[in-house]
Amino acid sequence: MKTKIVFSEKCLNYGGWHIEGPQRVKMAHEFLKEKKYEFLEPTSASEEDVLRVHDADYVWKLKKGLVEDPDTPAYENIYEHARLSAGGAILAAKVNGFSLMRPPGHHAGRSGAALGVYTRGFCYVNNVAVAVKAIGKAALILDIDGHHGNGTQEIFLGDEKAVYVSLHRYPYYPGTGGFSEGNCLNFPLPADCGEQRYLEALDEALGMVDMGRFEVVAVSVGFDAHAGDLASLGLTENGYKEIGKRIGLLKKPTFFVLEGGYMGEQNGRDIDQLLSGYEEKAV
Ligand SMILES: [Zn+2]
Repeated sequence: MKTKIVFSEKCLNYGGWHIEGPQRVKMAHEFLKEKKYEFLEPTSASEEDVLRVHDADYVWKLKKGLVEDPDTPAYENIYEHARLSAGGAILAAKVNGFSLMRPPGHHAGRSGAALGVYTRGFCYVNNVAVAVKAIGKAALILDIDGHHGNGTQEIFLGDEKAVYVSLHRYPYYPGTGGFSEGNCLNFPLPADCGEQRYLEALDEALGMVDMGRFEVVAVSVGFDAHAGDLASLGLTENGYKEIGKRIGLLKKPTFFVLEGGYMGEQNGRDIDQLLSGYEEKAV
């Protein structure tokens, strides 16, 4: 069974000049359309959904356009865009799909910038966290974006229903994730370390997790660890296929939420490979 892609064209309507711009998702969408994926249109996450993860004060500021930092502009209606992206993650969780939406979320902590980091790294609402809290299930959150998900770690640190596992380039933005802490298992990797090293770390990480505890696997998927992208760890399309196989072998209901990845058509190819590897082993 082919994984369904959650997508709304509305997520292309802002931020044309920024590296986290519409092209990265638009080109991936076009590629996946050619590959005959089925698409589902999300509805926005409710304010209640968002407030399970973020402080009321931060949400109020987002609505008013009052939170801006050098990475993360206060676009017009950004709260509405962020709610739709979070809604995409919730729908993906319900149908075990892949949310191909923006803005991304994993650097957004409870009240904005997380764990003392100066910026929110293109993120407004933590989509994967909103989805995990909305379904209320015990979750393994696997973050394969090239950057550490400091927001996700901040939100879930000490949460008995969740384990957060992240593989990321280090030292690098956001500067967190250099060591593991409680239920947050971090695997810092050197720049362009290559597929073999990456997959060894992933196997080690997954080997440390007691899968019997979890009802669902939530994958924060960034493709900026692809060779040449923003947080390159030297991965190729084949690397994403191998990652997908390992996720499939966990044999749990699984959903995927887009984080980074800034080479538009390449994102589409990587998604296709990740999902084909996943589907090969998931049945
Ligand atoms: Zn990233």
